[in-house]
Formats: sequence, structure tokens, C-alpha cells
Amino acid sequence: MEKFLYQRLDEKNPKINMWFIYPAIESFAMASLGYLAIYKDLDLNPDIFVERVYTDTKTTLLNPRDVDAIAFSVSFEMDIFNIIKIFDKYNIEKKASNRKEDDPIIYAGGPVMMSNPKPYEEFFDFITIGEKIAQKEISNVLKDKRTKKRDEILKLLSEIEGVYVPKYKKEKIKIARDDLNEEIIYTTILSDKSFFQNTFIVEIGRGCPKMCNFCLASWLNIPWRYPPYEKIIEALEKGLKYTNKIALLGAYVQGHPRFDDIIKYIAKRCEKEDIELSISSLRADLADIGLIETLVKCNQKTATIALEAGSQRLRDFIKKDLSEEQILKTIETAFKGGLKGLKIYVMIGLPTEGDNDIEELYELAKKMKSKIKELAKKSSNKHFEITLSASTYIPKAHTPFENFKRFDNKTLEKRINFLKKNLHKEGINFRVSSIEWDNFQAILSICEEDLSDFLIDTVKNGANLGAFKKTLREYIKRGLLDETVLHQKAPFNDTKVHSWNFIDTGANQLIKKRLDILVSDLEHIGSV
Ligand code: SF4
Repeated sequence: MEKFLYQRLDEKNPKINMWFIYPAIESFAMASLGYLAIYKDLDLNPDIFVERVYTDTKTTLLNPRDVDAIAFSVSFEMDIFNIIKIFDKYNIEKKASNRKEDDPIIYAGGPVMMSNPKPYEEFFDFITIGEKIAQKEISNVLKDKRTKKRDEILKLLSEIEGVYVPKYKKEKIKIARDDLNEEIIYTTILSDKSFFQNTFIVEIGRGCPKMCNFCLASWLNIPWRYPPYEKIIEALEKGLKYTNKIALLGAYVQGHPRFDDIIKYIAKRCEKEDIELSISSLRADLADIGLIETLVKCNQKTATIALEAGSQRLRDFIKKDLSEEQILKTIETAFKGGLKGLKIYVMIGLPTEGDNDIEELYELAKKMKSKIKELAKKSSNKHFEITLSASTYIPKAHTPFENFKRFDNKTLEKRINFLKKNLHKEGINFRVSSIEWDNFQAILSICEEDLSDFLIDTVKNGANLGAFKKTLREYIKRGLLDETVLHQKAPFNDTKVHSWNFIDTGANQLIKKRLDILVSDLEHIGSV
């Protein structure tokens, strides 16, 4: 069942039909704030009839032949497999250059596309390099799809700020940014099919002022923005009319200037009602006891904190401003506040990482475990668990680490095996992502060439890990893909202009400065 949290139009006399596709199953789509927020705008546009489509959609209301435009909301690199499968399922021409006058105009948006559109650009007539705000003008141009020539529409689209039309390349494209003072993003449809069933999610911040060197969420969202307290409370009130499950979302939720007031407000409501609150991730240096107690009072059992690296040296190098003392203090606060556990996120294979950094991560995990044992002796809480959740480092375009590629599989495997073996002995849960899938994501994140044929062939070969490895081997053997796309080829201080540099995030100069500092640090220690 679905509950719309806005007043839908009674009737429409649309000029065009559109599919808004989330390239994954419905439950993920209905949990995606960006997808739901843009759907609401399309749904409220009298000129557009819009149908939501997912990978598990059995039958569509619209016949594919009657669809004038198709938009994809892309959250993850791997979604591209599903996009290609959707093209096959509905018999849609995969490459934009082969589409005919009457074919639908197909575009995509989302952080993956904003950061590095090059690998995918042959699939789409245009790509949205911007946030939700760009859609308004896009809709205004697309509505004339039936009365204007395809090329005329594409030219008009290329004039919109934050729109990239590969056929009409521009020297610079500025990211179109939403004004969060004007509009706040929250769940617009509550669905019992959502991955976060009947949960009202509200975005309380976009971007992060901490600007860790690897972090796309921070470097792509400049300046970081927080909606006003009043708008957040208004949104929460709206959501609480329909559900008792609420979640606060943001890369750095505690950075909101009135975060304490928001928590106090929710805590007060929790005293009178049975409210379930969850928060995406906490900064380990800011987890104060009041916040933890509120989370527990509002039924949150565990929380996630991100350390990224185990050694102080490496945390400093990646600019994660976090000391060991703060980490251990957070464990104590989480324990005393009444949580049942903490998920601790780390990355393996960060630039400059050595075996010693991994050993220090293991030592830190042991210290966390002994801290918990020590606390448990004096408490009735005997079931507090920590889980180390790791993924391997994936370089991202538009961050100061964009020139720092991945370690080879052997080095990563060795370090992961060391942690698996030793953490297991200590009774510490350890989960880790797949090195090969992370390789795949890394290729898509930083490849500066078109990858459409490679991706189509990977889907033809099965769209699984085996297919990816097989296709990658074939392409490298035939000289169609450069092996060094994953591993270091150029020096870190390479001043080459990247294919993604035409996208102006507002931080291109800052990235250069940060990179100069990193290189000079490395020269100092003799690493370049
Ligand atoms: S603190 Fe977290 S969200 Fe902020 S820049 Fe660092 S990794 Fe990104």
C-alpha cells in the first residue's frame, strides 16, 4: 500500500508520457529520497503523465511505443547493468546516436552520473549534472517533445544549467544546486514495500564540511547545506501524522547548526509516543551521551560510525580528523547510553596504506573489544557487540584522491586475510566487500573513456562477477581497455586535465591545492 504525503492533481491533460525508472527493485526505489522527490515534481506537473518503473515491474501502464521520455535515477555504479537489461526488456535502442526521431529521449541523473558521466554517455541523450532543481527546466523543454524536432529539444536542453548533452558539448557545466532554505527533501510516498518500510526519511543536511580526501559526498556537494530547523520540524510533524518511524539523513547529520535542538524535539515526542528514530551515521567525535540516550529511548538499537583507517598516520593523511582517544570514548558513550552495538566502518587499501597500518587497525579493534569487556564488568549490559565492516578503497573523480588508484588484488587479499584471521580469534565480527566488485566500481568511477561496449558485453556474458572478469580480460587482451585504469600509472601529482574536469563542482582549484599538499607530504617521506 502507498500513502501519498502530498495532494495529487485531480486530473491532467498531459502533453507527453514519461517513464521514471529506478534501475533496481521497487523496495529500493521507494526508499530513495532523491527518486521520490523528483517523482513528486513530475507527478505534479500538469504537462507530464509519469509512470514509475522498476526492475521488478511486471506490466506497465504505458506501452513502450507511447513513451516520449525516459529518466533514470542512478544511485550506484552497478545500476548500469540493470539499465542495459531494461533497454533489452522494452526493446529500446541502447545507444543515443542510433535513436530515431520518434524514439523516447532518454536521460539519467544522480551522484554517479554527476561525478563521472564519460563511461555512460553513449547510452543517454543527456545527463543531468545537477540536483533536483534542474528537473524543472528539463520538464519544461521535454513537454514539447511531440511538437518539436528531437535535435531542437536536445539543443534547448544543452542550454540549461546543469544539463550535459554529449552531442552538444560545452566547455564547462556548473552543477545546478538546490536551495535547501527553499525546499527540504523528505519521503513523499510511504510504502509498505519500501526497504525502510513505512519510514519517513528527512534530509537534514547535504554535503559535509569535513572534506576527507576520498569522500565524494563531501566534494560533490559544495557548499554543504543544511535546511532551517523550522522546515525540518515541519517535515517531521507531517511524517509523524502517518507513521511512527522516522529517520534523519545526511552525510554529516551532526553538523546541522541546530542538531541538538532537533534531537531534543524528537526526544520530547518520544516521551509521549512510541517513536522509532534512526540516524544514518554518527561522527565518532560527536557522539554525546544525550544523543545516544535519545536514540535508545526512540528504539534505535545500534549505530554506525566511520573510522576509515586504523592508524593515526593514515587517518591524518586522508584528513579524517579523529583521534584514538575519541574513538574509544565513543565506544564508552555508546555502551553507557544503552546501545546494543556499533557498526564500525573502515576502508582497506587507502592510498599510502602499509601492512603496519593494517596491524594498527587490528590493535585498535582489540582495544575497543577490551574497553567493552572492562565496561561490561561494571554493568548489566553484557551483550554489546562491535562489527567491523570494511570495503576496499574506491577512488572517486572530483576528490583530492582522484589520482590515487587501487592496490593490486594480491595486496588487498593479504591485508583482508590478516584481519579476517586475527579478528576472528578475538571474537570480533568482520564483514568485507568483494575486491572484484570494488574493482568494477572503481573502473566506472575513474575511467575516462566510453565504456558502453564493455558494459553491453558484460551484460551479454551474464552481468555477474564472472562476466565482468571475463569481459575485462578480453578487453585488456584486445587492447580495448587499459589495464592501468585500476592501478597506478601516472604519478599522483600528474597535472593532466581529466575528462570530468568540464564539470564545475566549485572545488576544482581547492582539489588542486589539496593535491599539492599531499604530494609534498609524500615527497617529504620519500613516497613519490
Ligand atoms: S566526515 Fe564523513 S561525510 Fe564528512 S567528509 Fe569525512 S567521510 Fe565524508
